[in-house]
Amino acid sequence: MAKGKAGPFELPPLPWDESALAPTISARTISLHYGKHHRTYVEKLNELVAGTQFADMPLEKIIAATVGGEDNRKIFNNAAQAWNHTFFWNCLKPRAGKTPRAIEKRLDDDFGGIGKFNEEFSNAAVECFGSGWAWLVDRNGKLEVISTSNAGTPITMGATPLLTIDVWEHAYYLDYENRRPEFVKAVIENLLNWTWAEEQLDKAKDLRRAA
Ligand code: FE
Repeated sequence: MAKGKAGPFELPPLPWDESALAPTISARTISLHYGKHHRTYVEKLNELVAGTQFADMPLEKIIAATVGGEDNRKIFNNAAQAWNHTFFWNCLKPRAGKTPRAIEKRLDDDFGGIGKFNEEFSNAAVECFGSGWAWLVDRNGKLEVISTSNAGTPITMGATPLLTIDVWEHAYYLDYENRRPEFVKAVIENLLNWTWAEEQLDKAKDLRRAA
């Protein structure tokens, strides 16, 4: 994701129409998830940083500056959730295509193939206790699956996120009720944007080269 400007932050437009992910994710879910939940994180963040030392920082910097501390927990939660959601929308694509070839090789090397990756990613998403996120990340040139709780985000963990699934109940409850495994399976099978993942991988490589 491009390094953003400082606040006040805006809710970025979705990369597709609200109905474009149906039937895997309904327009009603997207309307609520994006239009209410994501919007609220952005609006709340703007309220919280107004007049503070965070007001002139880009989103990534606010997240890095507030992670782990008690004092700015609310700012971290809203900033990280704003970032995570924008990233998540880009990880989803209607009628997503095959895995791009460059990443397929990496999935072979680091997981033993796309099938094994899907299994590991699905387990991380399904087993994430309570609210959180499952991620495919690149850490020091190796692909890993991790999960984070609540607003947790890999950008504070020395890892470059490539793909994510939001497994907060607000992401699936209207369409799947409590059946999180069905939601996760449907997203993995139908919506993962591997082109986006590959673009993130290229960026991670460029950053390592520049370091
Ligand atoms: Fe969410």
